[in-house]
Amino acid sequence: MIKHTRPAVLTVEDDDAIRALIGGVLSSECDMREVTDGATALKSVIENPPDLILLDVGLPDMDGFEVCRRLKKDSRVAEIPVIFLTSHSSPQHEVDGLEAGGIDYITKPINPAILRARVRNHLELKKSRDMLERMARLDGLTGVANRRTFDDLLLREWRRQARTGQSLAVIMIDVDHFKQFNDTYGHGVGDRCLKEVTKAAEGALQRPADLVARYGGEEFAVLLPDTNLEGAMAVAEGIRAAILALDIPHSRSSAAACVTVSLGVACMVPAPDQEPSVLLKAADEQLYAAKSDGRNRVKGLALPQSA
Ligand code: GH3
Ligand code: MG
Ligand code: MG
Ligand code: MG
Repeated sequence: MIKHTRPAVLTVEDDDAIRALIGGVLSSECDMREVTDGATALKSVIENPPDLILLDVGLPDMDGFEVCRRLKKDSRVAEIPVIFLTSHSSPQHEVDGLEAGGIDYITKPINPAILRARVRNHLELKKSRDMLERMARLDGLTGVANRRTFDDLLLREWRRQARTGQSLAVIMIDVDHFKQFNDTYGHGVGDRCLKEVTKAAEGALQRPADLVARYGGEEFAVLLPDTNLEGAMAVAEGIRAAILALDIPHSRSSAAACVTVSLGVACMVPAPDQEPSVLLKAADEQLYAAKSDGRNRVKGLALPQSA
């Protein structure tokens, strides 16, 4: 993901003159970082991933192909484009580089115009890829994670906590009488309401690892790693209160004079032989119970591990 307004480019090159040349060509449009060997490059990329890597093939400690192969094996940084800098230009050499995961080649002596053009092209492509990736993972209306992202993260946390033996909790949230709300105030006001509800829910979370997702229509799901029933009920109650406090008028709700939500909480220590869907199903059942009990309330259940 591009986090800066200016893209970050890492140059990995042991030749002082070439580093200086690259810096001179690119520093007006990119934030440049430089290292001179493979081991430092690997460390630097992991610690602070750049948007693009210019990688010398002949480095003092290991060859650039090996650096690239190691980067491509690490899912955290595998998507960062790598352009090789090399003085050889045999077809076999190019094939080796592309097979190692490089996206392009620049041959030495470096031509400044070619360097600038290739770097710009690959940064543009990466920006588009990052944007598509973001769009695929986030909900367009509210900007929070979408259902696909939630399901991915839930599975990841499920597996992790099956190993650590910690309790994992989910909260399913559903806006009360939202069809009536739309029918009364219009779809545009309905959309704005969903955005406000999302912000209030996010604001009620307490830990960095907690996550709100739009699960569909007017339903939201919250993932709470390392959380037991008591903790999850407290978070759910906080979300309910925060949404009530928005005080968005809803004249046709049976639950209150303003927009409210019902919440179902479920938690368990994940069992390796079970699917996270048991947790979602239990939270859904609790949500259903909260609805039939009168809405604007929280219901929860701790599942035994063998349930
Ligand atoms: P309940 O209290 O039982 O949950 O009733 P409800 O009316 O909220 O439930 P129902 O499932 O009947 O209706 C959900 C409504 O949510 C229907 C749909 O118009 C509305 N909705 C779903 N997605 C959106 C959206 O993106 N924007 C807006 N404005 N409305 C949406
Ligand atoms: Mg070299
Ligand atoms: Mg619903
Ligand atoms: Mg609803």
